Amino acid sequence: MIRTLCLSLVLSLAGSGIAQTPPTALAQHSSHAPSHAAPSAAEVWDSLTAGNRRFVAGKPQTRDLVSLRHKLVSGQSPKAIILSCSDSRVGPELIFDQSLGDIFVVRTAGNVADAVALGSIEYAVDHLHSPLLVVLGHQKCGAVNAACSDEKMPSPNLDAIVEKISPAVTQAKTYAKADDLVESAIKENVHRSAMDLVANSEIIRSAVKSGKLSVIEAEYGLESGQVVRLNAPIHSQN
Ligand SMILES: [Zn+2]
Repeated sequence: MIRTLCLSLVLSLAGSGIAQTPPTALAQHSSHAPSHAAPSAAEVWDSLTAGNRRFVAGKPQTRDLVSLRHKLVSGQSPKAIILSCSDSRVGPELIFDQSLGDIFVVRTAGNVADAVALGSIEYAVDHLHSPLLVVLGHQKCGAVNAACSDEKMPSPNLDAIVEKISPAVTQAKTYAKADDLVESAIKENVHRSAMDLVANSEIIRSAVKSGKLSVIEAEYGLESGQVVRLNAPIHSQN
């Protein structure tokens, strides 16, 4: 409920005058399928969870990657955008059993978005028209663990990651016990990261408000291999 209210607030603050986004140089280098051919966000999420079930079962689809590679030379039309942690155990293409051209992936330590990551996601929303954005955290996230440790980071760049995650840790500390702090902060960080995407990008905010984009928060379990959704999808509040 609180999350819905927060999003409603964010969307109401967005106002009605959404500026048109000028074409970018990036768009000239990648064509995409007509948007009317795109599946719904719910259908895309169903296909991702079906892929995750195949991954968990150890039964990935077989693919002709060579012919697929040739087919994709003319353009891409990824069905989902995924912001995930850079952790080597959490490769989105693998855990969702997806292939070339299926998902547009942005990875940072702690699945938090700076301006470059945000711009990358905006590109997929605005020019590739992907209908679903998944913010994916994971168990035992080292970046969140570092933010929970209060230890001084050895570089300003590492500090920038921890600073992004720290508000989630502060929030988790209001209710989590010490032995549950990291796991609670991981979930809070996924949620805050998703909210930040909407709050800090007019392109994403506009797409959500118009119903063209849904945002799903999820967590990957290292032991189970399962991706579990943490929220109802964020979609148009109208
Ligand atoms: Zn991580």
